[in-house]
Amino acid sequence: MYNRFQDINIVDIDQEHMLGRIHSLEKSSALDGPGLRVVVFMQGCQFRCKYCHNRDSWDMNGGSLYSVAEIIEQILPFRSFLDASKGGVTVSGGEAMLQAEFVSLLFRQLKKLGFHTCLDTNGYVKEQFYGPKLDELLAHTDLVLLDIKHINRSKHERLVGVSNDRPRNFARYLADVNHPAWIRHVLVPGYTDEEEDLRALAKFLQPMSNVQKIELLPYHRMGKSKWEEMGFEYPLEDLEPPSAEQVKEIVKMFHEDYGLKVIHA
Ligand code: SF4
Repeated sequence: MYNRFQDINIVDIDQEHMLGRIHSLEKSSALDGPGLRVVVFMQGCQFRCKYCHNRDSWDMNGGSLYSVAEIIEQILPFRSFLDASKGGVTVSGGEAMLQAEFVSLLFRQLKKLGFHTCLDTNGYVKEQFYGPKLDELLAHTDLVLLDIKHINRSKHERLVGVSNDRPRNFARYLADVNHPAWIRHVLVPGYTDEEEDLRALAKFLQPMSNVQKIELLPYHRMGKSKWEEMGFEYPLEDLEPPSAEQVKEIVKMFHEDYGLKVIHA
C-alpha cells in the first residue's frame, strides 16, 4: 500500500539516475503558460478534486518511468516551435510537487538549454521542502501556475479532500520571495462560485505583487469520460458549467473592486 501524502522521488540512486513517474507528455498546449508549451504531466496526486480531468493520474504506482535525459530528448525536436511562440516547457500533473526533486533536476537542465519553465501545481508543498530544496527548484522555474482550488478551508476539504493550509502557505511564500506566479481558480457552480468566497480570494491575492494574472477557468465536464472508463462514478454528474454571463460578472468584480488582472477561458 502506498500513502498518497508521501513524496515519490523514486529510484533516487543519484541525481543523474533519478527517474520520474510520468503520466503523459503533450507536445503542443496553448493553455499552460505563455506561448505554446510542451507539457509534462507527472503521475500521482494527493488531491481528490471532484471535477478532476485527469482521474487516471492519481495512482502513485501508475504512469511510466523516465529519466530527465529521456524527457529532454522528447522535447528538443519542438525547440524552434516553442521559441517562435515565446513558449517553453510546463510540468503539470497529477501533482508535480510530489516529485519535486525530479522536477528540480529537469528544470535545471532545461534552463541550461535556454527553455522557459513553468511549474503547474496545486500548492500542496510540504513544510520539510521549504528551504534550500524549494529555493533551488524556484531558481530554475520562470513561472509558477498555482491552482487555488478554494479559499475557504472547509469548502476546500469538501471539494478536494484535504485542507488548503499548504496551498495558502505556498502562495504567501511565493509572494514573500516575489516569484512570478499566475493563479488559477476553477469556477465550479455550487462549490467555488459563492460571492463571499470569491471576494475572500480576491482579498487574499490583492496584496501579492508577484501575481501577474489570475485565470478563472469555468468548470467543464471533459474529465467525465475518464472516470467512467475507469469504472468510477463521476461525482458532479448533473452539474452544468457556469454561464458566460456569470463568469463575466465575476471577472468584472475582480477587476473593478480589487484591481486584479483576470482572464478567463
Ligand atoms: S489537483 Fe489536479 S490532478 Fe489532482 S485531483 Fe485535482 S484536478 Fe486532479
